[in-house]
Amino acid sequence: MNQEQSNTYETLFGLADPLPMQGKTAGYVKIPYSSDMSAYGFIPIPIVVIGNGSGPTALLLAGSQGDEYEGQVALSRLARDLQPEQLRGRVIIIPMANPPAAREGLRNSPIDGLNLNRVYPGDVRGRPTSMIASFIERHLMTESDIVVDLHSGGRSLRFAPCATVVDHVDHRERSRRLALAYAFGAPMVLISKGFEERNSSGAAMRSGAVRIGVETGGGEGLEKGLVDLTYKGLVNVLSWAGILTEPAPRLRKPAPVMEYAQVQDYVYSLAKGLFEAAVDFGDVVNRGDLAGYIHDPLYPMRPPVEVRFSAAGKVVCRRAPGPTDIGDCLLHLAHDYEEQVAGELDLAWTSTWLSDRSSKRKPRIRKPDSKKDTP
Ligand SMILES: [Zn+2]
Repeated sequence: MNQEQSNTYETLFGLADPLPMQGKTAGYVKIPYSSDMSAYGFIPIPIVVIGNGSGPTALLLAGSQGDEYEGQVALSRLARDLQPEQLRGRVIIIPMANPPAAREGLRNSPIDGLNLNRVYPGDVRGRPTSMIASFIERHLMTESDIVVDLHSGGRSLRFAPCATVVDHVDHRERSRRLALAYAFGAPMVLISKGFEERNSSGAAMRSGAVRIGVETGGGEGLEKGLVDLTYKGLVNVLSWAGILTEPAPRLRKPAPVMEYAQVQDYVYSLAKGLFEAAVDFGDVVNRGDLAGYIHDPLYPMRPPVEVRFSAAGKVVCRRAPGPTDIGDCLLHLAHDYEEQVAGELDLAWTSTWLSDRSSKRKPRIRKPDSKKDTP
């Protein structure tokens, strides 16, 4: 595909400009960023919109945390590959959601120190990262039926590849999220019971979209196998949603569903030194088992600090760098998910909730600019 076929790379969108419904448009969203040397300057957020006819809208995000690479590469590849004639509906691709952070390979923005995935709903009058969050929630998610937010462990962690779901008390909402996570086809679905108000899951919920996350790799690496897994998962999701008209091969069996909830599932460092893990991904451990050692080679004759698990479970995430300090997360565990409603996993595995309702496009309603706008 050459540049002409993808229309133009010079399309610029202001914060309130409508996005195209038809064709393929590659451009940038302007996040205003005024400085002494650039009074009318902006931060460019790359965006590719591919649409054809009526159907659901999928928002695909990567690079919210700038030290996570597989999703950024997989989404750029998908942006080049997808053509309007393959679709019924629309795909909005943001391969690098926080460029100031991502261009430097940093988790948080060097401009304002903020972590994009912790500042939703953001504020259009706030710092640049907060403005990006506001734009994504108010303008992109409100137009979207589903959201796939691609992550990895970043510089400090490595994740076993999985689709992630934030648990929800409403079993219908949980089921929609689980169906989407199953459709992605990662080797595992991981449910967390965390607080979601500040992240993209809470943002999607407020916008009436259903969101999953994806965790692949980390540790500042970029593995072809994980990029391919991510790309294939996105194709699976778009096919499941009926947005890609050519169906992807049906997945043979549902991935195992794991969950983590309690603080004891995490192993933290209480010493400074070099962490040597005693376990690997997929290992099943018991409470009290050895998790690893923290060494301090300045004192070679001292035995290393032993770190032990305070819960039983399966290892799904571990620290990537050797150097560690007090408060760092070293490992975390997950457990087999226990159904909260009998039969809910079977129901989610066979669910086609989005294509069932896709005859009715989500109405394009914008949220008000900010809470401050309304008395
Ligand atoms: Zn992340």
